[in-house]
Amino acid sequence: MLIKKIALLFLFFCFNVANAQQTKNVVIITFDGYRWKDMFNGADSSNLFGKKFTSQDSIWRVKKYWAKNTTERRAKLMPFFWNNIAKNGQIYGNRNYGNFVNVTNKYWFSYPGYNEIFTGYPDTLINKNDYGPNPNINVLEFLNNKPEFKGKVATFTSWDAFYNILNQKRSGLPINSGFKNMQGEKLSDVQETLNDLQWWLPKDYGMGERNDGITYSLAKEYVKLHHPRVLQLSFIETDALAHSGKYDFYLDAANYNDKMIEDLWKFMQNDPFYKDQTTFIITEDHGRGYEDNWQHHYYSVAHSNEIFFAVMGPDTKPLGEIKTKGVLYQNQIAQTIACFLGVKFENGHDIGKPIKEVLLQK
Ligand SMILES: [Zn+2]
Repeated sequence: MLIKKIALLFLFFCFNVANAQQTKNVVIITFDGYRWKDMFNGADSSNLFGKKFTSQDSIWRVKKYWAKNTTERRAKLMPFFWNNIAKNGQIYGNRNYGNFVNVTNKYWFSYPGYNEIFTGYPDTLINKNDYGPNPNINVLEFLNNKPEFKGKVATFTSWDAFYNILNQKRSGLPINSGFKNMQGEKLSDVQETLNDLQWWLPKDYGMGERNDGITYSLAKEYVKLHHPRVLQLSFIETDALAHSGKYDFYLDAANYNDKMIEDLWKFMQNDPFYKDQTTFIITEDHGRGYEDNWQHHYYSVAHSNEIFFAVMGPDTKPLGEIKTKGVLYQNQIAQTIACFLGVKFENGHDIGKPIKEVLLQK
């Protein structure tokens, strides 16, 4: 009886929102292992000025990313986040204010994190990155199996593990992950070029994965041609470059990822299909350690469970950076995605509740 009551309350909440809300499309973007400290505090002085994690020619980067004042500094690193999302959306996870966003899985690395984001269920059995096909149903697949979203969901990622994380074999989702050409009989010129270019770019600065720029451009071209209602875009560079200890390149990656998000937002706002009816949800799979441990993340590395979460769209109050004490969890994101689209996500597991703070009306 109680469960029934709770389910009814949920439906009331979600449909109540859905009836009034303007969101028709959702874009979910993930950074990989980007520290909340860099996001909220800007470039870290000991890393940026020290020799240990930067190359010889980093003077221009100091100019590009450094300012004494935190507000100025973080806006130099991520201008779209701090000049736009911080004005028109909501950003959670600044632990300086006691505002926490945490993963609930106990592993604090990629596959368990992405599983938690997209299935809402922190599966204890998923304990390695080469786990294989995910037994849990994810929210993208759930939506793609509904008539109104069938064929209108798409995934572009730099890391090739998403074929397994989203279980492409079972889900049948169109996924382009890692080094992989766009398939199809009639490709656009841009797609043809990107198919070639992904193989020809240098891979010698610690990146074993496909460049985020290629992943992003393939996603944007797909958006232009096919207008998906639900798009996943997952970057990898912050993680790959942190692991290889290149703080300067890591900052560049965050800076370029921010620019790609800006480019996609502006592009969509100029397309009547997306304009004023598209919500961006931005988050990540795990955090990283502090100080010299910034390179690493794992259950044995303190703080790598600390992440961020941001939303911007027509149904989200423009509260900006959230400076009140509170905690959100990674397992809430899947249901939040569904809720923006007026759907209740179910996969047979006990999944996190939607984040109602971002769903309330203006
Ligand atoms: Zn990761």
